[in-house]
Order: sequence, then structure tokens, then C-alpha cells
Amino acid sequence: MPKIKKLLVANRGEIALRIMRTAREMGIATVAVYSEADRLSPHVKFADEAVCLGPPPSKESYLLGEKIVKVCQRLGVDAVHPGYGFLSENADFARQVTEAGVLFVGPSPQSIEVMGSKLAAKQAVAAYDIPLVPGTEEAISDIAAAKARAGEIGYPILIKASAGGGGKGMRIVDSEADFEEQMNRAVSEAQSAFGDGAVFIEKYIGSPRHIEIQVLGDQHGNTVYLFERECSIQRRHQKVIEEAPSAVVSPEMRRAMGEAAVGVAKACNYYGAGTVEFIVDENLDFYFLEMNTRLQVEHPVTEMITGKDLVREQLLIAEGEPLSFAQEDLRINGHAIEIRVYAEDPKNNFLPDIGRLETYRRPQGPGVRVDDGFEEGMDIPIYYDPMIAKLITHGESRQDAIDRMVRAIDDYRITGIQTTLDFCRFALKHAAFVSGDFNTKFVQLHFSPEMLDPVFTPEEEELLAALAVEFFEREEKRANPTRPLSPIPSTKWKNRLL
Ligand code: ADP
Ligand code: ADP
Ligand code: MG
Repeated sequence: MPKIKKLLVANRGEIALRIMRTAREMGIATVAVYSEADRLSPHVKFADEAVCLGPPPSKESYLLGEKIVKVCQRLGVDAVHPGYGFLSENADFARQVTEAGVLFVGPSPQSIEVMGSKLAAKQAVAAYDIPLVPGTEEAISDIAAAKARAGEIGYPILIKASAGGGGKGMRIVDSEADFEEQMNRAVSEAQSAFGDGAVFIEKYIGSPRHIEIQVLGDQHGNTVYLFERECSIQRRHQKVIEEAPSAVVSPEMRRAMGEAAVGVAKACNYYGAGTVEFIVDENLDFYFLEMNTRLQVEHPVTEMITGKDLVREQLLIAEGEPLSFAQEDLRINGHAIEIRVYAEDPKNNFLPDIGRLETYRRPQGPGVRVDDGFEEGMDIPIYYDPMIAKLITHGESRQDAIDRMVRAIDDYRITGIQTTLDFCRFALKHAAFVSGDFNTKFVQLHFSPEMLDPVFTPEEEELLAALAVEFFEREEKRANPTRPLSPIPSTKWKNRLL
């Protein structure tokens, strides 16, 4: 079996660092690649070797597949881990890597191809007993026929780009009158954003949950599921808070979803780590959405509850090792929550708020994990996803994990930019989240920017502090009637109060 000796990580930031840490633990040498914007990044400093790919834009650096393959050959790299985003779901890149005699840490190019197209994925799983959202099974070419089908399904419907991803390429259509216009827009958007104008229709599920299953398969036909992740707290169809297990999934539902996910993996001869996403309606019926053929952003919550290092498993699978455990060996231990700390302003529609991390201090303590790729004083570049860090907590119960997360958020110190930390604290303390009764509409239903405002205005705080100082001065005078009052205690109290 070929052992990996040198691994190139074709990614940046927190995920590059997270992968290299496991590689180092396994005695594997690491090679970082970076753009000119990331020259001083922790992932570059951590790696044994590092190669600059080019200017900051992804197209001139992290997306240069051919250049990365050449780096592998030059440096004697024997495996490439693509992380998530960038080239991770690019079948051509996986093929080029393999053809250069280098292991691709991920599934086969064929699996990536099938699952990279939401339509091909639906067709592939047709032979298995996997529930699908009602919709069209083929790309829409005939508007009149599509309209008729939309009428049958019932409005609202969702038009989706087959090649879409990252929450992009979706349009909700409320009535037949808007159908044609929205369809034309969807096609041209899909063409320009994904280079593929194929779109299809799905029933729009009103208040769904997003629940996904982690799978692992080896190259010998063994596939297991590592339970679910609840990812319903989203903005712009993209996740901000994830947890494992889900508060609403019973052991029976878990088994049914797990087995369906293994079916999806088998439908495309999957090996490696992958995620099968489901949408769950109010009756807790679940439907297959898509499969992500890579390590997921939110994989740490699964690691916390299963005790498995998913990157280590990926590397062993790439080497051709059989899985060292079976389904019945896997157990759920406690509860884990992840929040994504984005450089975004929740008070301004979650728009990116990039800039310098003037202060950056991580929380610590039992059951707290921080996966990040920045240090104090660094700039968050505008060129990439504005995620600063992932904060993960683990506890015995769901409430323990929530309490620990709120404490960890309070201990996180970030100044210089707006972040999603306050929004996440708000969400974690919200009755709907605490009860477990929430869905992907959480932000629309429960959040408005003024909810993050402090209870008192700065003027009111000033007044309260002045009153308190006055009170404590009188108290001190009462206790020490002979001592003259100095201005020092008042400053002392004021500092303590403000
Ligand atoms: P996950 O399902 O793991 O949470 P996301 O949908 O948040 O993944 O995407 C992970 C990363 O990959 C993000 O940086 C996102 O912007 C990027 N991404 C995923 N799919 C695409 C795509 N088709 N086009 C552009 N970026 C994408
Ligand atoms: P992407 O490739 O962008 O991740 P997905 O198909 O996984 O696309 O959908 C992303 C999110 O969009 C889901 O988590 C869910 O919030 C919403 N969504 C997708 N399909 C539907 C649907 N049929 N009805 C309602 N919401 C949906
Ligand atoms: Mg998805």
C-alpha cells in the first residue's frame, strides 16, 4: 500500500492549517501553496515547504490546477488534499492529479462529476430507494412544459442551477405569472456563474430543516455513516451555526437517513469522506438534496461527537487502507456546536466587513476548539470567503454545549471588524434555538438588527455609571466618615463600571 510521505494542501486559511496538523501527527511532510495576499498566513508558516502560486485573485492562484500539479512533480509530492471550495469539487483537477501519479485525497473523478451536477445526482440515485423533492428530473429546455410541471407541483417552486453551489443559483417563484421571467434570469445567471445554464425545478419546501449525513467509504466497498449534522441556521442559504446530533432526529430517523446516505454514496461508487444533504419538512419527512464530495466546513462537530479525525480517515482511505471500524462501532458521545465567525456585519444584511484584526484573542478552556487561519494584526483579504474562524464547543448535553458556546463567545475578543459573533450569541440564547424547534427561516423569523443593540444607549450608560459612582462614594463616606474623599475612588468605580 503506498504510504503518503509528502502532502500538498491546495487550499488556504483555517482548513489548510487543520489538514496539515493531522498530516504532521501522522508523520507526513506538508507543502503549502499561497497567493500573494496570504504570504504571512499561519498555514504558510506551519508547512514544511511553501510555494507562491501568484497574485491574490483565486483564478490567478488557488484555482491554477495545472500549476499546482507541476509544483507536486517538482517537490516530489505524493498526495494532494484539496480542502473545501476552490478545486475540491473539480473533477478535471482530480483527474490531472491522478494522471501525474499523485494521490488525490478525495473520491474518484467520476464520483465528483456525477455529484457535482444536482441533476446527474438525482438520476444516479434513482435506482436506490432515496426520497427526492418533487420536481423535474431533467434540465428544462421547454418553458411551456416546465410551466405545466410547476403547476402540477404547486407554487411556490424553486428554480435551481444544476451546477450551483455555495447557496448560489436559486430563485423562488411564487406564481405562474413570474415563471418565465425568473426562468430566463436563472438560466443566464447559471451560465455566467457556473458555466452551465442547466436549471431544474423543485418544490419549494416552506419551513424546512437542513440535516446532512457524514459518510466515509473506503476503496474496498465499505461505507459507514457518522450520523447527522443539523445546519438549519443559515443566511443567504449558507450555514452559520451547525450542531451534532440534531435535536429532532430520533434513533429510527437517524438510521433511515444514514442508510439512505450510504445508498447515495453507493450509487456513485463513492470513496473518501462525503456529505449527503437532506431537506426535512415539518412532518420530519426527509428528501435528498445533493452530495458534497469533499470535507465539509462543519466537519468538526462530527469529529467531536464520534472521536474520529476525518482528515486522518481521508488520508488512510487515499492510501488504500480499509476502514478500521464498522457501523456498529460508532457511537454518539455528547453534543457539539459550531459557529462560523465571519467578517460580516449582521446589522447590515450580513455583508462582508473586511479589514484588520486589531485585537484577536481566542477563547480557551475545556470542550472548546478554535479552527482558524489568522493572527492578531492580520488583514482579512477581500478576495476569498470572509470566514475568520470556526468556534466549536462540546458538552455532555445539548444545553451544556450551548452554555459553553455562549461563554466562549463572551471570551472571544475581536476588534477592528464586524463579525457574526454577536449574532451567534443572540441565536444560541433564543428560545427557538434552545427548544430545538427552528428551521432555515430562523433569521427571517426571529432576527432583526436592533436585537444586537445594547439595552442602554451610551448616554444612559454614562448616567447610570455616574449614579453608581455617587452611591459608592456615599457608602465609603459612611464607612469612613473622617477620611476626606479623594477623586481616586470615583475613577476606580467608574472604570469598574464602564
Ligand atoms: P458547506 O456545505 O461545507 O458548508 P459551503 O456551501 O458553505 O459548504 O461552501 C464551502 C466553501 O466553498 C465556501 O467557501 C463557498 O463559498 C465555496 N463554494 C462551494 N460551492 C461553490 C461553488 N459552486 N462556487 C463557488 N464557491 C463555492
Ligand atoms: P448548494 O449547492 O448551494 O449548497 P443546496 O441544494 O444544498 O444548494 O441548497 C442550499 C440551501 O438552500 C438548503 O440548505 C436550503 O436552505 C435551501 N433549499 C434548497 N432546496 C430547497 C427546497 N427545495 N426548498 C426550500 N429550500 C431549499
Ligand atoms: Mg448544499
